[in-house]
Amino acid sequence: MKEAVAGELADAYDSRLIDEVRANGYRHVSGRLTLHLAHEFGFCYGVDRAVDYAYQARRRFPGRNVFLTGEIIHNPHVNDRLRDEGIRFLSDPDERSETLGPDDVVILPAFGVTVSDMAQLSSQGCTLVDTTCGSVLNVWKNVIRYARDGFTSVIHGKVKHEETRATASQALKYPDGRYLVVLNREEATVVCDYIRLGGDRDGFLARFGAAASPGFDPDRDLVRVGCANQTTMLMTESLEIGEMFGAAMRERYGEAALADHFRAFDTICSATQERQDAVIALLDQHPLDLMVVVGGYNSSNTCNLARICADRVTTLHIAEPDCLVSATEIRHRPVGAPSTASGLEVVSKDWLPGTGQLTVGLTAGASTPNNIVGEVIRRLDKFANGTG
Ligand code: SF4
Repeated sequence: MKEAVAGELADAYDSRLIDEVRANGYRHVSGRLTLHLAHEFGFCYGVDRAVDYAYQARRRFPGRNVFLTGEIIHNPHVNDRLRDEGIRFLSDPDERSETLGPDDVVILPAFGVTVSDMAQLSSQGCTLVDTTCGSVLNVWKNVIRYARDGFTSVIHGKVKHEETRATASQALKYPDGRYLVVLNREEATVVCDYIRLGGDRDGFLARFGAAASPGFDPDRDLVRVGCANQTTMLMTESLEIGEMFGAAMRERYGEAALADHFRAFDTICSATQERQDAVIALLDQHPLDLMVVVGGYNSSNTCNLARICADRVTTLHIAEPDCLVSATEIRHRPVGAPSTASGLEVVSKDWLPGTGQLTVGLTAGASTPNNIVGEVIRRLDKFANGTG
């Protein structure tokens, strides 16, 4: 079946231009434009596999309804194509997961689903096509182990992100399992201060209650913690947060007792890490006038690539090629804005320097296929060289 859909996938998502740019040392030179493409960008192994399985599922069950629990990955173009294939989305307002039964096929996305959603769909007898990425399963393994050993999972992630919700639910597989989600260093600092000094319990719950397991008690549940993370967070921030918790526990309980109170595993996936490393290498090697980052506005790993770039150079995060409206107008998501599906998009004018040589960097998040990246290069070329 894999072979049967290979041609279809290549037609839908590959790009000859990208192959050429790669062969040319990840460089595209045309007129006044020199474009440098990050050496690792776009579809990761987990997304590749998930999209492949979705196409295979459509073929394997031709007469049956095939559903996705929600977006398979955070890329509007890929999700629209799956809709065109006849795959339905349970997240759509007119779909009802409660009415599904043994005749229905449900694809679970690369970032997984919660334990309760999985149990519900299984109990209804649906045929499940599970595309949960191995790197996500690795995080779950650690979280389950923390829960088994009486450690609260502190998850560096976005509390509403599908992957983080799924990961947090794994902590509840044991009766005493607990979790707490922290978004960033600032939140980690508040929690670490509580570990060190205690404090206002009600104030803590008012701030973190919605990001914690039911019945969370900071006085009881911050005594033993294990760190984990959403696989697509900023690696440097996840590592730093892990160190912050280790330091707080060391201060509170002493070095000799540290192992009884603190555990950590690096659960950033290798694909996320490689894309972050590659964009840093690109920024180190080439002085740029502009950096363009392509990917869904609700794609966590894309937003983090944009954050890395924005510290160093003017950076425009776009969702699709059409965001490059003209040589003088661009639609983009301001870097650092909250990553919500509806996205906060703004229109900027005069984004492209009008004359002289132009050096642009380009990367794309793990859910962006090559054909989209190739089309972005075509439009950049057209607008930079006044041929559009
Ligand atoms: S970003 Fe990482 S964890 Fe997520 S699907 Fe890709 S490889 Fe898997």
